[in-house]
Amino acid sequence: MSRYRGPRCKICRRNRVKLYLKGDRCFTAKCAIDKRNTPPGHRLGLGRRLSEYGVRLREKQKLRYFYSVTERQMRIYFKKAVAQKGVTGQNLLTLFERRLDNVIYRAGLATSRQKARQLVLHKHFTLNGTKANVPSMMVKEGDLIQLNNPTHEHFKFQFEVMKDYTFPDWIEYTEAKKEVKVKNMPSYEEIDTPVDVQMIVEYYSR
Ligand code: SF4
Repeated sequence: MSRYRGPRCKICRRNRVKLYLKGDRCFTAKCAIDKRNTPPGHRLGLGRRLSEYGVRLREKQKLRYFYSVTERQMRIYFKKAVAQKGVTGQNLLTLFERRLDNVIYRAGLATSRQKARQLVLHKHFTLNGTKANVPSMMVKEGDLIQLNNPTHEHFKFQFEVMKDYTFPDWIEYTEAKKEVKVKNMPSYEEIDTPVDVQMIVEYYSR
């Protein structure tokens, strides 16, 4: 299954939760969830009742859209999470958080994961001094992300926005050098992804 390219607000409305898929707009009064939190096609807000399978499928889809990955990638991440020591659901979320595009979003250098993905594809970053143009690259503790062209229009604007930004504890941003250091991997408690990860584990374990 390929990446979803349709209206993103519909995904939030269908899941009745803010998934922050449209950057700045998600933080304004224009957000479709804040304006009208009803599923698409249901003016009265009466969504259809889901089966147990449907509930699990919905949680899985939420995670997929949240990190903007394909179904194939989801299955690969799940296999990796199962193979790791520890709790599978927590491993799964940590794997998603380690994606380069996610770290750039979390560091405030992009307003959405889609934008971060685009910036990576356009070769705006290096990872530990080498080119990094693959959004799914996995970062690890101690990694350093640097900007190739900090004077680019996007960053000029974004640096202003970042003045009021609260960085996650696991990310260190050095303003003078415009670089991002991954201090450590986020703990499960630090990941605010709005999904019931146990449901996703059950979905793939069926
Ligand atoms: Fe979701 Fe609101 Fe952002 Fe649209 S604007 S993608 S409904 S959070």
